[in-house]
Amino acid sequence: MADDLKYKRILLKLSGEALQGKETHGIHPPTLERIADDLLSLREKGYELAIVTGGGNFYRGKSGLAAGMDKAACDYMGMMATVINAIALQETFIRKGHEPDLFSAFEVGGIVTQYERRTAQYSLHEGKIVILAGGTGRPFFTTDTASAIRGLELGCDVLLKASHVDGIYDKDPYQHNDAKRFDEVSFADAIELNLKVMDQTAFSLCWENSIPIIVFDIRVVGNLQIALAGDTSIGSLVK
Ligand code: UDP
Repeated sequence: MADDLKYKRILLKLSGEALQGKETHGIHPPTLERIADDLLSLREKGYELAIVTGGGNFYRGKSGLAAGMDKAACDYMGMMATVINAIALQETFIRKGHEPDLFSAFEVGGIVTQYERRTAQYSLHEGKIVILAGGTGRPFFTTDTASAIRGLELGCDVLLKASHVDGIYDKDPYQHNDAKRFDEVSFADAIELNLKVMDQTAFSLCWENSIPIIVFDIRVVGNLQIALAGDTSIGSLVK
């Protein structure tokens, strides 16, 4: 069964917004539960899952800039926010009977161990869900870029970006009625058109290393699996 999968080892970028659900910030517990169920059912089917958590539902680096705060300090706060989401996800999986392995780019003493590539690869190989917190561990980056780096170093076959829209548009579909959705888009066009769905560093890294990206709407139950089957009706493929 697992040998028939189009993509087997998956890097899922789970933004803070995806966990926020209907709330204006923080975590919406039913949304977290539902996403965890979807992920556990993928694991049952033989997918190997690494998940990079975002932190935007609690804090984004740029939030503090307007108040005159130091950019690096704000980014450290943002990275800590990704750890909060990662612990919430870890706890949800444990409650549902699966003990994932949680790593952070920086050690959170007594709570989260530091990321180590070989250990994380081994966990994936053993069928454990791997949760990756702390982004790159460096300010001035985003968890999109962290996803591209982790996806590449862990040998993932595809990077899935969970979104609140059903793919990539040439302009913001919430603001423009005539926004055009792409089923597929090349990396060259994604960069040239300055598509905002992922940051350019992440696009460039994935392009240079030939790892495809699927952007899909995570709000609908089962979409994860449909996206992984290569169906572009619920998401867009960048390759
Ligand atoms: N961040 C960082 N370095 C990283 C990843 C994240 O400094 O490698 C900080 C940055 O301030 C960012 C915040 O953490 O705004 C939360 O990450 P992100 O905005 O990517 O989360 P998302 O929007 O996906 O929830």
